[in-house]
Amino acid sequence: MKILVTGGAGYIGSVAVEQLIAAGESVVVFDNLSQGHRAAVHPEAVFVEGDLAGRKAIDSVMSEHRPDAVMHFASKTLVGESMQKPFLYLGDNITSGLNLLQSVVEHGVKRFILSSTANLFDRPERMPIDESERIVPGSPYGESKFILERMLHWLDRIYGVHYACLRYFNAAGATETHGEDHDPELHLIPLVLQVAMGKREKVFIFGGDYPTRDGTCVRDYIHVIDLAQAHILALRALDQGSRVYNLGNSEGFTVKEVIDAARAITGHPIPAEVGPRRPGDPAVLVAASAKIRQELGWTPRFPQVRDIIESAWRWHQAHPKGYGD
Ligand code: UDP
Repeated sequence: MKILVTGGAGYIGSVAVEQLIAAGESVVVFDNLSQGHRAAVHPEAVFVEGDLAGRKAIDSVMSEHRPDAVMHFASKTLVGESMQKPFLYLGDNITSGLNLLQSVVEHGVKRFILSSTANLFDRPERMPIDESERIVPGSPYGESKFILERMLHWLDRIYGVHYACLRYFNAAGATETHGEDHDPELHLIPLVLQVAMGKREKVFIFGGDYPTRDGTCVRDYIHVIDLAQAHILALRALDQGSRVYNLGNSEGFTVKEVIDAARAITGHPIPAEVGPRRPGDPAVLVAASAKIRQELGWTPRFPQVRDIIESAWRWHQAHPKGYGD
């Protein structure tokens, strides 16, 4: 198959491209490089630098390359930023998705995979969170993903576009060649590893008084390779119908456990200081992944947070300047 990957120069998108190519698919990457890196684009992928803010660039890629499927990773992705600048999300994220979806329909593409998010579940009634949980987006970011999920629902009914919405919990880790390089970096694991590399003095723990086993937040960290594999399984299953999956390991780790694991792996003391809570952080977010395991046979290869951090540490040591741009 030929797959168009928007955001294929970004963290999760570039790993998905790497895994798709390893699985024998051909890939066209469409990315505006606002957050992604040219050096993260796989050498065997066709690269088109372009923006989804208008229809012209994406329409010409669709006409020229005629993809069999689209994976849509390109997005603004920061919950905190979306609370400060809601229109970047309720505006830009949705406009970009709308332009892409209109182009998909007009060019007769029938397979679509959306990067969605655990931020759909701001007030979960059950933990771990399964697909029947009530959707209450936690921010304009989560809302923008929910609106795209709803658009896909109608495009399936009206035009027969089969879709999969994959709601990621905490993506982390790296392959040998692709890792996490954000500017600014705001995610826990890369921040902790920056301390180990001497780029930061210490890490701040956002809140030590949560009702959890050690007072710090519990999150479900999923290896980016396992996430990419879920996309490939979902792609292969799309002809049997549309679907949504929550994607995590089903096991949570506290912030302190992550820092302790990083200390053991790096041999660095990684000073940490407990500070105030970060607004909007729920105490525990863990996915129930039984549905994708049962329906698609997905099994995480790297369920241990130790293995996830170890892979990220290898990548950061091999790429001390990230992608170097
Ligand atoms: N966190 C922290 N210090 C940091 C960054 C994150 O204590 O400098 C915590 C954060 O409160 C959350 C967990 O680490 O409980 C994971 O945060 P991250 O931003 O990596 O992902 P999120 O859960 O927000 O998607």
